[in-house]
Amino acid sequence: MVRKTLIAGNWKMNGLLEDGVALAKGVALEVKKAARKDCEFLICPPFTLLMSAKKAIKGSKTMLGAQDCHFDAKGAHTGDVSPQMLKDIGCQYVILGHSERRTDHGETNELIAKKAKSAIEAGLKVIICIGETEKERDEGKTINVCTTQIMGSVPENSTAQNTVIAYEPVWAIGTGKTPTANEVEEVHAAIRKVVSKKLGRANANKMRILYGGSMKPSNAKELLALPDVDGGLIGGASLKVADFIAISEACRQ
Ligand code: PEP
Repeated sequence: MVRKTLIAGNWKMNGLLEDGVALAKGVALEVKKAARKDCEFLICPPFTLLMSAKKAIKGSKTMLGAQDCHFDAKGAHTGDVSPQMLKDIGCQYVILGHSERRTDHGETNELIAKKAKSAIEAGLKVIICIGETEKERDEGKTINVCTTQIMGSVPENSTAQNTVIAYEPVWAIGTGKTPTANEVEEVHAAIRKVVSKKLGRANANKMRILYGGSMKPSNAKELLALPDVDGGLIGGASLKVADFIAISEACRQ
């Protein structure tokens, strides 16, 4: 089963106009030079940079995504942005259910599923994030937690074409710590089984499951070589062109 590797950058709340545009241009230039057919590239800047990043990546195969959206198409939701608005300005993807949103904004599986359903209906692809805390891992609850999150936050209209799962152990995000390669593969294989239960085997076989959490050039090769790891969702290292591209080089086929 060939699943095209996805290298996705989550810029989080980083970037002012000048450096954000320079970063997007830098990534686009390298993506163009690399001319990869086996790998897709996505950047997810903050809302304020989406339009200028879109211009900066024009003509390269770099895709554009946002980091969140509302479930409604429009209306009285001060401060929110709808999936239709993201689609309208050229986004192809939206990240949903990142652990920082689950923690900072109290997002539940139910809310994430609602957002994901609407985003898919609006024509976006969704990257749904799941992952256990350090305490949950220590208590041996990792697979249970991920199962509950998938069952609750992946909507019924998800397919392998419109949905990507990102396994991001909360304790590995921005900490420099990562699970061992065996641990990552164990969780990814379990996630694929749960997706199969929820959406059928065909979707599970084709659905991309990214690893996220302190992925960097030095550990990318080992992680991206795992059979059930289909790419990376990269935070800190996506803010440096050289690191982001070096991660993708680690999975050249
Ligand atoms: C993330 O927040 O999605 C992430 C994986 O961050 P980092 O790479 O910095 O750990």
